[in-house]
Amino acid sequence: MARKLIIAANWKMNKGPAETAEFIGSFLPGTEELSQECDIVVAPPHVSIPAASSLLADSVVALSAQNVSEQDEGAFTGEVATSMLNELGVQYVILGHSERRSIYGESDEFINAKVLKSLAADLRPIFCIGETLEEREGGKLEEVLRRQVSGGLANLTEENMADVVVAYEPVWAIGTGVTATPDQAQEAHAFVRSLLQEQFGSEVAAATRIQYGGSVKPGNSAELMNREDIDGALVGGASLEAVSFRELITNAVA
Ligand code: PEP
Repeated sequence: MARKLIIAANWKMNKGPAETAEFIGSFLPGTEELSQECDIVVAPPHVSIPAASSLLADSVVALSAQNVSEQDEGAFTGEVATSMLNELGVQYVILGHSERRSIYGESDEFINAKVLKSLAADLRPIFCIGETLEEREGGKLEEVLRRQVSGGLANLTEENMADVVVAYEPVWAIGTGVTATPDQAQEAHAFVRSLLQEQFGSEVAAATRIQYGGSVKPGNSAELMNREDIDGALVGGASLEAVSFRELITNAVA
């Protein structure tokens, strides 16, 4: 099955509204053509979403948040609700990123609550999974991915999965400059797809897009995207500069 590539920029805690506007101004030219081959998404910090939302309104670039609350509203200091993201035209939300898992202690169960809440609000989760170096070297890669997929995607229907993008991000490759080799990434992606097949059946497994994340750059995006089960990228560092991010996408679709 042909799956359209999807490449998303995860800016993490970088770029306030002014820098966001500056980036979008220089990034947008040329995106229309690229978008025929690849869905393009940017995920600014929450405070920059209003600026991004108006600047991206008539563009082919979709808007994502980096997190959302599992609650509807109320006394949850510092949190942002799905309805607030809806109001700003946000389409995607990154959930389960390794920084949220390791720094803020988000569990599979908690991430699952956010995935379900997002789907109920028509937000598409970019659901992140991945092992640490210790887990990989300890022979636990498959066990960890199995736990993250079955826990994080618990209670989802086959229909729900049409709105889910999975991002396989080996923790040892995030922000380190070390990229998984195309073979290592392909092997993990194929395994994740087999987990989706066990949980949701072969149609869902064949249709679900699985991004690779971890030091993707303009110089390696093509060789990664050329592999059978790699359907896009979640990009941190190399998405912070408009020119480099566009080059990364251009190379990926070539
Ligand atoms: C990420 O944060 O999801 C990521 C993959 O970061 P980087 O591209 O900088 O490794």
